[in-house]
Amino acid sequence: MSEEVDTPSVDPAPRELVEGLASVDEDATLYEQSLREKEGTVYALVRVSGTKHLAVVGSNPPGFEVGTSVEEGGETLALCPCTPENAERLRDQFPWAAPRPLGRTTALGCGDRLGLATPGHIRACEEAGVVPVLAQQSIREMERTGRSPQEVLDDVTWAVFQEGFTAGYGADADHLKTPADVDACLEAGYTMYTIDPSEHVDDEADHLEAAALADRFEALPWDELGTTPETCLDRYVGAPVSVDGAERTLQVEFDETALKRAAVKYGRALAHTRRMAEYLSRQYDRTRPGEDYDLEMSVDETATPTRAHEHYFVAAELNRLGVEVTSLAPRFVGDFEKGIDYVGDLDAFEEAFRDHATIARAEGGYKLSIHSGSDKFSIYPILGRHAGDHLHLKTAGTSFLEALRIPARHAPTLFRDMVDFAFRRFEDDRATYHVTTDLDAIPRPSKVADADLEETYLEDDDGRQLLHITYGSLLSATREGRPRFKDRFLTLLDDHEEEHYQALIAHFGDHIDGVGDLGGRLPPEGS
Ligand code: ZN
Repeated sequence: MSEEVDTPSVDPAPRELVEGLASVDEDATLYEQSLREKEGTVYALVRVSGTKHLAVVGSNPPGFEVGTSVEEGGETLALCPCTPENAERLRDQFPWAAPRPLGRTTALGCGDRLGLATPGHIRACEEAGVVPVLAQQSIREMERTGRSPQEVLDDVTWAVFQEGFTAGYGADADHLKTPADVDACLEAGYTMYTIDPSEHVDDEADHLEAAALADRFEALPWDELGTTPETCLDRYVGAPVSVDGAERTLQVEFDETALKRAAVKYGRALAHTRRMAEYLSRQYDRTRPGEDYDLEMSVDETATPTRAHEHYFVAAELNRLGVEVTSLAPRFVGDFEKGIDYVGDLDAFEEAFRDHATIARAEGGYKLSIHSGSDKFSIYPILGRHAGDHLHLKTAGTSFLEALRIPARHAPTLFRDMVDFAFRRFEDDRATYHVTTDLDAIPRPSKVADADLEETYLEDDDGRQLLHITYGSLLSATREGRPRFKDRFLTLLDDHEEEHYQALIAHFGDHIDGVGDLGGRLPPEGS
């Protein structure tokens, strides 16, 4: 299951390490879980003078860039900075510190926008036996947080090492829209690629008049789709299919109009997905030959729900085009707003979700991917019931909200400044989100007592959304050329590191318990 055999953990820490560290900084922290031994050399993650380093005790730290080194008891303690080069060497030394493809194993996506939440994610998943996707960031998130794909993956690498997490994890390059997006993430070493063709989804298809519908159907990129309008109609219309999932059999039938609407809605998105998937495959052959990866198609960020027969059409067309996905994210019925519970009719959701699960099982066995999946506590039992064993639940911004508990508790002035700033940014920032936040329902921070800050802004739906969607503005804000909040916020999280992790563990534990059946297990590497 892991390479633990090659790199046993070490307990207790060697005296040379402990005393060498103390001689550099008497308040140094040693992350006990990180202690590993390989070929006579001991490795650990430490915090020295406020900054994390890789500590290496042994005569010959293999290839790591060394910052400082001290002699202790006849051994050399080398302190190596957490640079991109050292992260790469660490992944070479300890292959479990690098991401890997997860295939169809049920997984929990834990986006970490700050680069400090991952140890909390790991512990929550480890406790529950859930396979985590740790480096999960969309291109949009990386732009807003000013982090590169490489930085995101490196932060995760150090966190995985810090926790001694050898069981394996995935890395999801989320919402890729262009070949350039693919390249940046491929080069960084990601192992999962989520292609987002939503700009090519025609949301008007449901309501077009017959003539307009026929025109758009004829105008689809048939060459790229490798078929013709006539053949497409022949293939689907008037030939009812039984989609046989484990739970039940679903009858799917198209009349001409339904087929045209499905094709117009998703045809260009399918062509785009094919282009992106083929590009990715070629780039892998060229730069990482023989390596496997996970592929997702996501249309979650579109206006109209994906109906069962449309999902069937997309799945059947992907199969025909030879695009093999490990997961697919339909646009589900109801509202998946950021940071709050599902909004919509639960019975209608369950009915539709059951159909989607049946199709996913029958048409290739790929996972159903749930985006904006955090805090959707009312639907978790439904997800678990119908797709617990082939589910990919993605969460991202909810970890940012958990991090904000720390300033709310320990730095009320900073927290109030952040909330004030979020109020000013909200109208602009909401443009790219689907939220129904009622700003008037949120008290201004000057009116809220210190002791009530956390409850007012982080337990209340409107407050959560206010802070959820303004994260990019909060993190990138500057004053007099310097970060306005970010540095103080991150320092505070470092100062309250364990408390931050505990908040995440509690929150993610609730998610995992809610779904009930998220306990995927990875097969041994290479199988
Ligand atoms: Zn998404």
